[in-house]
Amino acid sequence: MTQIDSTIGVGKNIGILTSGGDAPGMNAAVRAVVRTAISLGAEVYACYEGYQGMIDGGTGIGKLAWSDVGSILNMGGTAIGTFRSADFRKREGRVKATKNLLERDIDRLIVIGGNGSLTGLDTLAQEWSENIAQLVAEQQLSAEVAAAHPQLFFAGLVGSIDNDLVGTDNTIGADSALHRIVDAINSLTSTAASHQRSFVVEVMGRNCGYLALMSAIAGGCDYALIPEMPPESGWEKQMREALAKGRAAGRRHSLVVVAEGATDRNQNPISSEYVCEILKHDTDEDVRVTKLGHVQRGGTPSAYDRWASTWLGYEAVMSVLTQKPGSTGKVIGFHNNKVSYFPLAEAVKQTNSMPELIATGRYDEAVKLRGSSFKEMADIFTELVNPPDAKIAANAKRVAVLHAGGLAPGMNVAAKTAIRLGISRGFTMLGVEDGFVGLAEGRISEFAWEEVEDWFAGGASLGLRRATPKVEDFYAINHALDANRVDALLIIGGWDAYEGARLMNEEKSRYPAFRIPIVCVPASIDNNLPGSTISIGADTALNVIAEAIDRIKMSGHAATRAFVVETMGGYCGYLAAMGGLSGGAERIYLHEEGITLADLERDVRLINEMFSSGRKLFLAVRNEAANPLYSVDFIARLLEEEGGDLFDVRQAILGHIQQGGDPTPYDRLLATRLAASALQVCADQFKNKEAEAAYIGIRGEGVVRTPMSRLAEEFDLNFKRPKRQWWLQLLPVISAVSGHQPARR
Ligand code: ADP
Repeated sequence: MTQIDSTIGVGKNIGILTSGGDAPGMNAAVRAVVRTAISLGAEVYACYEGYQGMIDGGTGIGKLAWSDVGSILNMGGTAIGTFRSADFRKREGRVKATKNLLERDIDRLIVIGGNGSLTGLDTLAQEWSENIAQLVAEQQLSAEVAAAHPQLFFAGLVGSIDNDLVGTDNTIGADSALHRIVDAINSLTSTAASHQRSFVVEVMGRNCGYLALMSAIAGGCDYALIPEMPPESGWEKQMREALAKGRAAGRRHSLVVVAEGATDRNQNPISSEYVCEILKHDTDEDVRVTKLGHVQRGGTPSAYDRWASTWLGYEAVMSVLTQKPGSTGKVIGFHNNKVSYFPLAEAVKQTNSMPELIATGRYDEAVKLRGSSFKEMADIFTELVNPPDAKIAANAKRVAVLHAGGLAPGMNVAAKTAIRLGISRGFTMLGVEDGFVGLAEGRISEFAWEEVEDWFAGGASLGLRRATPKVEDFYAINHALDANRVDALLIIGGWDAYEGARLMNEEKSRYPAFRIPIVCVPASIDNNLPGSTISIGADTALNVIAEAIDRIKMSGHAATRAFVVETMGGYCGYLAAMGGLSGGAERIYLHEEGITLADLERDVRLINEMFSSGRKLFLAVRNEAANPLYSVDFIARLLEEEGGDLFDVRQAILGHIQQGGDPTPYDRLLATRLAASALQVCADQFKNKEAEAAYIGIRGEGVVRTPMSRLAEEFDLNFKRPKRQWWLQLLPVISAVSGHQPARR
């Protein structure tokens, strides 16, 4: 992460454009580019309507001020326009574009677009010196200007709902598109279940099956057809049988997701209408087709598409301002939960090779290029939708699932996944009611595959309590585990889950039934758990916060008003920081940074200056434990008193709405992935005859298991948050785009 040097932009001009298909989150990136650049002394010019504005010049290119990108963070589409410019594909157009850029001293360019747009960027950068030489020869450009801009410094950000660029984990817009698709699938599920009907849902993605596969998993669908994994011949019969088996096992509907680019192994396209005909064949079943079309592209960006795109916009500015002569620009995206820089030409080449790989039947290579979690999720999906044929053996290992801690949306999905996959892997799956309380009372029962069908929405159907086992409970817990012959314990929850597992681990020598694999799965909206960059429920909470802030801001439109909003999180500032970033807060108060009287004095002064110069709205977000004395109420009253008649102040404590709601697609996918991994940890321990207490989570490349013995090393027991919090590296980003956050780090 590059740190801010507040003078690096002075005298530098940056061009920005959005091109190709629009994607929610592009606006967040544009806003971040403009604000970061201005914070660093640079100037930003928008090329309106993509490359076309660059070619047209005149009003096609215009300077953007700080306020020009106000109120666009939560808007879908792209405020600076996009266009598929045929002229830019021609050398002549690109020479004109070069001239128009140089007339404005722009030799730094940030392009947000898909594969095609980035190819265009690569071409322009390659040709830059040739274009200049031609312009000088034709006396359209002076030799001095040419000499001052020998190279195009550039950065590409991938804006595409398809998530099809090889090398990046997530493109701008893909998460929002998943929101749209899963919302639609949820609506279809309820009507399909009422009528015991089948639905075929066609989703976008060109030759990329990401949206189709992930929405099928997150939407709890039964079958998916995707380009990278075409079905074997005879698939029509196999699909009908698989769906019939699901119905026999208690499902009230069948949902099949078809990617728009799906084919069979002979390259024959598989249309949603064809799938519909297959499903109708020989039955009187009512089957309907829904093509989601362009709704997938539209709508407000998800919280992820806001904060992640903001971060990428910041990085793009840092990159174009710090590139050295001779260096080549890069595509910037996320890989393994880190901002990563990819050589543009290589990323584009690999992405362009995808249709060829699929057309020539090299499916394994195609799937590999999509990244390791794509294959992992595809395998989990296949296993998850297939009700097992065999009965569970009498001597099967017995794995119990329980929840502990506060409610986190996605807990149900994790428990359902664990139970279904556990059964299909040959375990007897048990559920414990009401967390450790139910465990001590022996409220443990076996669950069958069909019994967990409805565990999909928010909440925790097994029940949960905010309680850790006490010394006096250990005897009862030991007895319950023993009586139910529990061979492994899978605890899905927040800090209480980890604390409970840690205590049981410490009491192992005294209580023999505790000598089993105990695996903690991180589920907490606070995202304060060790061993995982993200926990189940945090993404849903962030989306709730972003939506609430949107509404709060809208309520202030007619007034001149400052808002102080409080989020949950205990001492962990994740929700405040990322919620504030997603909501466009001017000031974020965190316990990690502290609040001093000097800070508050500075804030009062700056806010008064802002409102005096015509500002209408100010938003501060405060973590609930940021400071014991400087509460939301205190800060709001302080601003009110010191602001006089300049503005009024409202406070909003978001409270428990942050724990509620349907889990987002990301939380459903995370819950599915982590539950599958937790079961794998149990299976590995059974095989190796181990009995370790551990916690799992997303770290680096994938899901990692950490022994409970490392907890004290990784976790701050005093403030109940990890000792190292990755998201603190976003504080400079917050400072750059908020225009108000003190740059302390
Ligand atoms: P996306 O960027 O979403 O993949 P397109 O493939 O339509 O969308 O590309 C968007 C625009 O990028 C095109 O209309 C064109 O202006 C430019 N572009 C695409 N490919 C090239 C290319 N090979 N050379 C120059 N410009 C290109």
